[in-house]
Amino acid sequence: MALSRRSPAGLRPHGRLPGARSFVGFLIAVVALMGYFFSRSTNPITGQSQHVALSVDQEIALGLQSAPEMARQFGGELPDPAAQDLVDRVGRRLLERGFEGATLPYPFEFHLLADDKVVNAFALPGGQIFITSALFSRLETEGQLAGVLGHEIGHVVERHSAQHMAKARLTQGLVGAIAVGASDAENPSAGLTAAMIAQAVGSVINMKYGRDDELESDEWGVKLMARAGYDPRAQVRVMEILSEAGGGAGAPEFLSTHPDPGNRIERIRSLIGAMFPAGVPPELQP
Ligand SMILES: [Zn+2]
Repeated sequence: MALSRRSPAGLRPHGRLPGARSFVGFLIAVVALMGYFFSRSTNPITGQSQHVALSVDQEIALGLQSAPEMARQFGGELPDPAAQDLVDRVGRRLLERGFEGATLPYPFEFHLLADDKVVNAFALPGGQIFITSALFSRLETEGQLAGVLGHEIGHVVERHSAQHMAKARLTQGLVGAIAVGASDAENPSAGLTAAMIAQAVGSVINMKYGRDDELESDEWGVKLMARAGYDPRAQVRVMEILSEAGGGAGAPEFLSTHPDPGNRIERIRSLIGAMFPAGVPPELQP
């Protein structure tokens, strides 16, 4: 009899029919795809429609809760109140003047970290921005600091981390999505675990932003600098400083997370040319 020649289901290695397993796989894929497509939302600052893994409240909660771990990985906050104050003041000036009075949903904070080897700057989702003292100490003018911070503010307002998380969720499965999905809107931090915080910090440190992300953030950097009264040409010098740091003994971290500084210089120059066709006004601060 045909039926008796088939192995009993209980003797199969996994005890399930192959068809059932692939159906489960199919369901997981469908749920992942639905999760991605239902993650579409309108950016409150740029007005663009994006796929993001987190609501604005979740971005803020994740950033605030992950900030101490990010600081810890780079030697903690630099114990230099004057330098920290400068970073804070330049960041505030970009926010206050760069967005022309618009109310921002993010509670921005600027952190100067003690690490004097790793030349880098980071943005966690939700407005937590970091610059290492290794990069800070290489900068020559306040305008260059504005260039670094303005670029990182760009990553926050463009919600690049939340976009990357949406793509990672789609390609890597549902582990993070379940935890993120579990947090409720009334209490956005409820679903966050230590593992998620570690993952968020790790993904930002190791993130390879796409070329488009970098160009968007460069554009924000230039725009915010000019509106806040800084000479946007300082951003070109920032790129040169990063290239120099990458070529020597200094760690090239900023280059891996922020690729192609050389190619980006030409693009920054053309943005500035389009912004100031008659030349950069001399009163802008270097
Ligand atoms: Zn960047």
